[in-house]
Amino acid sequence: ARPDQDLDQPFTTGCLDPSVMAAQPRENATFVMLARNSEIEDARLTVENIEWQFNRWFHYPILFLNDVPWSDEFKDVLSRAVSNGTEVKFEIIDKGKWGFPEKMNEKEKTKAKLQMKKQGEKGVNYGDMESYHHMCRFYSGEFYNLEALKPYKWYWRLEPSVRYSCALTYDPFAEMAKRNKVYGWTIALWEMGETCPTLFKTTDDYRIEKGIPRSPAWNALFQVMWFPAPVRWFLGLLGLSEHDNSGNKWNMCHYWSNFEIANLDFFRSDTYQDYFRYLDSKGGFYSERWGDAPVHTLAVHMLLPPEKIHHFSDIGYEHDTLWQCPGNAAMDKQLLGNKALGDTGKMTTPSEGGTGCRCKCQENTRRRNINSECTSE
Ligand code: GDP
Ligand code: MN
Repeated sequence: ARPDQDLDQPFTTGCLDPSVMAAQPRENATFVMLARNSEIEDARLTVENIEWQFNRWFHYPILFLNDVPWSDEFKDVLSRAVSNGTEVKFEIIDKGKWGFPEKMNEKEKTKAKLQMKKQGEKGVNYGDMESYHHMCRFYSGEFYNLEALKPYKWYWRLEPSVRYSCALTYDPFAEMAKRNKVYGWTIALWEMGETCPTLFKTTDDYRIEKGIPRSPAWNALFQVMWFPAPVRWFLGLLGLSEHDNSGNKWNMCHYWSNFEIANLDFFRSDTYQDYFRYLDSKGGFYSERWGDAPVHTLAVHMLLPPEKIHHFSDIGYEHDTLWQCPGNAAMDKQLLGNKALGDTGKMTTPSEGGTGCRCKCQENTRRRNINSECTSE
């Protein structure tokens, strides 16, 4: 579900002079990458790439997070992956913020482990990987309360083996702040329903309980269907509760959270943290495999007006098999009557040299990967 495009134009078009842009007023912001010691190579590739495409001009700090102590090798290699002037920090996640909720007793943990095992047997994606459940729960809520993030107002999330395929010559934090944006994304895709059958209904129950009105952003998450009351009752009985309380089905669309540029104050707020605690109390991070991506998306659409959500359609981004190519943004822009954005041209990677922000994500195509695009129309 993309917010109304009239409310959400790209921040700039074409190439700007990054050294001029970097000299402008800055935001309190940091990169964040959760990683494992074993991901040293993929983490290095990400860092070298983002440094090349953006951060060698802007020098925002990079904060590495781990649930176990960092190896000397990781610290060594990653410290050398940044350009002169970029600060790196290696943090261990505060005690109690990783793993099962502190409130959970041994009996409940045993039950949760059994439930995860069952998810594995059913073939739920990462269903039987306990650490993955912990990661999703962490990024859904505890992450925002880290001591290490206290000094900052904004974060930009990185992961091992992501790739930015174009230079970014403006400061996205400064632009987000200037335009009152809270949440920025690149790729929206459909969630695998079996990972979170009750997440949407749980969220809608919460919304009703708190008297939060249905907003246009919330409505954008529906695949609209209407069922008479007895049918709704029956669906509830079957546990088909990706339906909301009116029998409308979630369209499964969510923002892929391995890229996020967002305002920490929103996620640290009582409003968001209360929602996270509510979800946590329902147990779905373990009894199901609720992902941090749909949790963030549902919260953002429940609590924010659409104009506070920004699609970075100008950022070339790749991770795993999904990517966004601004070449496709050119097509979008044509529809909007502005052909300046999304020029394709030379790919800018360290090995090729060059600093142009003209971008080509992928050979033979100028489309955004259609598998990654959710449209609610
Ligand atoms: P996927 O992108 O959903 O397939 O999941 P990833 O395996 O990429 O995990 C998402 C992020 O969480 C990546 O940044 C991983 O490095 C990180 N991550 C996942 N599990 C763990 C873990 O157990 N420990 C640590 N330190 N990081 C983790
Ligand atoms: Mn990943």
